[in-house]
Amino acid sequence: MTSTDASFLTDFVTMSSFGATANSGVDRQAATAADGQTRDWFVGLLISNGFTVDIDPIGNIFGLLEMVPGAPYVLLGSHLDSQPLAGRFDGAYGVLAAAHAAIRTRDRFVAEGTTPTFNLAVVDWFNEEGCRFKPSMMGSGVFTGLLDLAKVLATKDAQGVTVAEALHAINGVGTFSPPPLAAYSEIHIEQGRGMDDAGTTIGLVSSTWSARKYEIVVRGEQSHSGATRMKDRRDAVLGAAKVIVAVNDLLKNFEEEAVHSSISELYVAPNSPVTVAREVRFLIDIRARESSLLAQAYAHLQDAIALIEAECRVTVEEVGASIWESGPFLESGIELSRSSAETLGFTHDRVLTLAGHDATNMKEIVPTVMLFVPSGADGISHNEREFTTDADLVSGLTVFTDVVTRLALGELPESHLALK
Ligand SMILES: [Zn+2]
Repeated sequence: MTSTDASFLTDFVTMSSFGATANSGVDRQAATAADGQTRDWFVGLLISNGFTVDIDPIGNIFGLLEMVPGAPYVLLGSHLDSQPLAGRFDGAYGVLAAAHAAIRTRDRFVAEGTTPTFNLAVVDWFNEEGCRFKPSMMGSGVFTGLLDLAKVLATKDAQGVTVAEALHAINGVGTFSPPPLAAYSEIHIEQGRGMDDAGTTIGLVSSTWSARKYEIVVRGEQSHSGATRMKDRRDAVLGAAKVIVAVNDLLKNFEEEAVHSSISELYVAPNSPVTVAREVRFLIDIRARESSLLAQAYAHLQDAIALIEAECRVTVEEVGASIWESGPFLESGIELSRSSAETLGFTHDRVLTLAGHDATNMKEIVPTVMLFVPSGADGISHNEREFTTDADLVSGLTVFTDVVTRLALGELPESHLALK
């Protein structure tokens, strides 16, 4: 292990101390104090390594290394925020790897006297997780124009605090407008078991799954849970329970592992003893390998819901949806990272990402290259048990640095055509 690898791992341990939980995880939901502390530490790390740091209106932190005055930038990054009681690798690894890869690349260019084609910048995207404030991938969503800034700033958490208020509370908002970009690259943990099972060190992300996350309200009628005749009841919890089972059962219509589904958030009203519930609100999360499968899954569920409405005498309303279509990553970017992994002697393979990432948004506006490192512990993520070995973290950084160096040298043909 080199001294720069050791300094990366030391920084990773320090970063993981912010919002640390009892079982080696972190809890740093967007714009909480723990997220703020992590961000402040990261800004300090950037400044001490010669980056110019600024923050945009949705709280994305940018660190710029200008090596060629006026040239567009290759942007690298991920997210520092986490789910509640989460692992310390999701997102945070990618942000720290971005900073270290940029520093290594800059230092190499200086040592060799090389003038690159593009400058380098790193970013911590605000609120990738979307747990405290929905939807997920908020910072990159605003940056790419997918989400409206004013609407997002007014979005409230469960306590009624807006994104704008929360960002001000951690001194996390600015007016920065980033310079033109030539390319974007991100490295992340796989968050699944595929690479670990196969013994693959470097994942070349070739496509995203499609996802539909939507909120449902099941409405019945509040009444006495003992006195009301069974035939008179309109029990929102019963209706919700049947919809929840239907969300799982719709998978029977598809090949194994082609579609994933879950209920990820649930509220019952009035949630009171001796009372049949009048309303249940919950979030349905359906993902599929292809957009057409997702549409079929949604249609199956709509059919099931119509039957449940009649059977339980409840209404089921969809009140808001976020949809991400499946889509490929740039072939030339996959080939560039494949050749880097190959040359450096690491096992590699093309992989799909089942999870959404900021790169999913970025690839819509700029040539984007995404890498994975394996997740151990059966691939578990959004859990304190999330784990990746030091060796895999360092191997990922090594390949990522090579990819970043080549991107800065303009080796990705499409980066010369980028507009933003
Ligand atoms: Zn993540």
